[in-house]
Amino acid sequence: MRIAVIGAGIIGVTTAYELACDGHQVTVIERRGAVAEEASFANAGVLAPGYVTPWAAPGMPIKVIGHLFSRYAPVRIGLPLSGRELVWMWKWYRACRLETYMAHRTQLQRLAFYSRERLHHITAALNLEYERSDGYMVLLRSQRDSKLVQAGLQVLRDAGVNFKELSPIEARKVETALNPDIDFYGAVHLPEDEVGNCRQFAWLLKNEMQRRGVEFSFNTTVARISGNGTVLVRTAHEETRAHYDAVVLCAGLDSVRLLDPLGLRIPLAAVHGYSISAAIREPLNAPASAVMDERYKVAISRLGNRVRVAGSAELGGSPEEKRSSSLQTLYKVLHDWFPGAANLSGGVQQWKGARPMLPNGPPLIGASGIAGLWLNLGHGSSGWALSCGSARILSDLIGSKAPDIDVTAFGSQRLRA
Ligand SMILES: Cc1cc2nc3c(=O)[nH]c(=O)nc-3n(C[C@H](O)[C@H](O)[C@H](O)COP(=O)(O)OP(=O)(O)OC[C@H]3O[C@@H](n4cnc5c(N)ncnc54)[C@H](O)[C@@H]3O)c2cc1C
Repeated sequence: MRIAVIGAGIIGVTTAYELACDGHQVTVIERRGAVAEEASFANAGVLAPGYVTPWAAPGMPIKVIGHLFSRYAPVRIGLPLSGRELVWMWKWYRACRLETYMAHRTQLQRLAFYSRERLHHITAALNLEYERSDGYMVLLRSQRDSKLVQAGLQVLRDAGVNFKELSPIEARKVETALNPDIDFYGAVHLPEDEVGNCRQFAWLLKNEMQRRGVEFSFNTTVARISGNGTVLVRTAHEETRAHYDAVVLCAGLDSVRLLDPLGLRIPLAAVHGYSISAAIREPLNAPASAVMDERYKVAISRLGNRVRVAGSAELGGSPEEKRSSSLQTLYKVLHDWFPGAANLSGGVQQWKGARPMLPNGPPLIGASGIAGLWLNLGHGSSGWALSCGSARILSDLIGSKAPDIDVTAFGSQRLRA
């Protein structure tokens, strides 16, 4: 089949790859000049399937309210919220019920474990070399933090995830550069989890696909999708109509605008986050892999010769305006755990990205209900960790093959429920 993939973030790139592997003739249409320029640009890179959980969780509404006025808040609301965001919040609030959360968490984790398997398969099959390290450690500042993670650890046990609770002395043996002066309660170490450079992976996969004949149309915007595989595309010079046997929408947040005229109202909201990336100043002071400060929900990752610190979840607000208190939290957490690791005196890349978040958790993967139009979107805070599995599932569905895992939870029918 001739298939157009709209969007070259990590979801679009992996989808195009799987479709090409299945023998389809694929064109990727991307409004930016390169792959992974938006939400996939500078994320934390963490691949920890046991920690992939819905944002809609019991107790979250109270946490959000509790953080409204705190200085280093991990979660914020940018006021005023639009009508659309208020509707989103109401749906999110309803999805925080325990039964809904448990069901969504199980589905998401199944997809995340499957995705890790697919990521390893692709990496080995193509011999891809990108910045990555093994191991993930959750750092617990206090006994209270430790108590709060116990329910999550039971989930890991039930899922058979290999992890170990560590004392500070043991944690320092894994991450030898942890600040010797910081007093903390303990850590949870997950040796099979990992961190990887999402953008670099997307670039390598794009290069491989171009060698295999996949076409990339950069600086090309899809202005409109009509039914039956027809899209209206716009470049700086012209506007043309193109026809495909199938179209797969992987346009992140812009998917809302493209689906609205077709009568598909997708409750997707931007949950902004930040990262700072800086060159390692002294390797002996830098993390070996990725750690997460549980209290501030900030990840510190080693990506090759750089350290990346990422966190904050901000519903609403402008995509351009960087909130200085959110950035300050990242610098503070880095300084607390790995002082002197990074060269912060110049050349720090400060990034604000928007997680394409559905209110209830699982992404939308599959037929849209409109002839010739397929969806792979709404991966929220775990798009990198879910990408390779979601892509394989989508390609199976287009090819009328049964996916390796149960996908009923990801279908667009739930939008109408
Ligand atoms: C601070 C932060 C930290 C994160 N950390 C992690 C992490 O540790 N692990 C993890 O798994 N995930 C993480 N994420 C989430 C992850 O980055 C996202 O879920 C993922 O990047 C979403 O990918 P995407 O392809 O759906 O969207 P995008 O990367 O935004 O891609 C969509 C693409 O579609 C293009 N597009 C849109 N509209 C059109 C149009 N009309 N025509 C043509 N092209 C169009 C856009 O230009 C864009 O390139 C983090 C996110 C943030 C913000």
